[in-house]
Amino acid sequence: MDKLDQMYTDGAFQQTHGREELQLFDPVTEEASAIVVLADERDAKTAVESASRAFPTFSQTTRKQRIDLLHALSAAVEARADELTEATIAEYGGPVEQARWRAGLAASNFRDAARLLDEFAFTRRVGEAEVVAQAVGVAVHIVPWNSLYNAISVKMAGALAAGCPVVVKPSEYSARQSQLFTECLHAAGPPAGVINVVTGLGNVVGEALTSHPDVRKISFTGSTAVGKSILRGAVPRLQRVTLELGGKSPTIVMDDADLRDAATSALSFGLLNNAQSCIAGTRILVPRPKVEAFCQAIQNAMRDVVVGDPRSPLTTLGPLVNRRQFDRVQTYIQKGIAEGARLLVGGEGRPDGLNRGFFAKPTIFTDVSNDMVIAREEIFGPVLCIIAYDDEDHAVTLANDTPYGLHAYVIGKDKIRARRVASRLDAGRVAINTLRHEPIAPFGGFKESGVGREYGLYGIEDHLELKAVIGA
Ligand code: NAD
Repeated sequence: MDKLDQMYTDGAFQQTHGREELQLFDPVTEEASAIVVLADERDAKTAVESASRAFPTFSQTTRKQRIDLLHALSAAVEARADELTEATIAEYGGPVEQARWRAGLAASNFRDAARLLDEFAFTRRVGEAEVVAQAVGVAVHIVPWNSLYNAISVKMAGALAAGCPVVVKPSEYSARQSQLFTECLHAAGPPAGVINVVTGLGNVVGEALTSHPDVRKISFTGSTAVGKSILRGAVPRLQRVTLELGGKSPTIVMDDADLRDAATSALSFGLLNNAQSCIAGTRILVPRPKVEAFCQAIQNAMRDVVVGDPRSPLTTLGPLVNRRQFDRVQTYIQKGIAEGARLLVGGEGRPDGLNRGFFAKPTIFTDVSNDMVIAREEIFGPVLCIIAYDDEDHAVTLANDTPYGLHAYVIGKDKIRARRVASRLDAGRVAINTLRHEPIAPFGGFKESGVGREYGLYGIEDHLELKAVIGA
């Protein structure tokens, strides 16, 4: 069995000082698949010191040097896209087409940053002042397991474009993908110390990194609870903090929507990435008179959802990442039933025909009110709620009645009305009749879905401090 015991600092792979082990399991077979040897506080310190040594030189590199590095990173990731895809399937159970898309997205994130850096204005004239944007310092990037290559690359691309060395702490549950991705980064030949990767537990390595006095920037993607603790922890040194957190996104089905198409779209918004997606549309808001017809349409659309082997191109929904997630989803299904929501599709346990693996039944509740636990808390699994609304104002009120504000979806024929509704939603992104991603538009959340924005130019700005220089 593979033992993953390497971290990457000072331009080289080395064994972690930490010796504690964590067993990983294949989500499809539940068999033990790899052992992660977890880094410890000393490893975290080593990684920050490595980045700190690189900062004075790297922050002074030319635009051209950083553009070349970003292109090299993109090419190195692209060169091993097939292996990266396979690692996502093996470790995470990501359906093959989606896994391939995510590996490609990582390569394009670096390319996009290179293009944007080419035209980025690091100095601007503002009245009497010359305003200079300068690299903020060593950046720590902490990321979850559910979209690993994208989360690492999008943060790293912004940081490197700005001139900041990075220390990445990936989730302990994505150690194999992290190892392979780091090999790609290494192959691109970054200067020693500019990229560092250290895998360990959040409350050990994560805390050691975020509390290190030499870290000036923290960019975190993960749960809202951990994000809040990171923000609190940054107070003594006022480190710059960007938080990309959870969501409970609404999908508003307008009254002019074709219900068959709307049902298919709502399912794809709700179940994407094995239903473990921060942007999942998990609250489906439907005009009250159309709820029964919509329920029928979504039951029909469910026939096209194929749960099972992520290696089959026919599969649309793979397993949950681990037993903990599986158990968590089961608990929420029980809560939904206990709260009096009506189970339309799915329920507890595994789908028929699957007798092992962390596969949950895609589950849809109707007769849900927006104050039920299943409508308020992020479940991070295939559990969707249908909620009735009376008119457009009511739909907007329900959509915004959530602690979160990461994403929203609107489905309808009248584009002007759909736009009008979109303009009233408190969400960092609103997608109208689409699931398309725009990787250079800002990404981030309103309310408890986060602080700040990343991606594209916003990811570069996120790693800069502004300085106004006045007088000759
Ligand atoms: P999590 O918050 O448990 O962990 C995320 C990362 O933080 C992991 O690397 C973990 O080891 C680390 N961590 C945990 N405790 C820490 C601490 N005290 N200090 C520092 N680091 C710590 O989240 P998860 O279960 O891995 O991921 C799922 C969550 O991530 C969901 O809430 C999802 O919505 C969110 N997410 C958000 C986005 C976004 O862009 N907004 C994208 C993907 C996932």
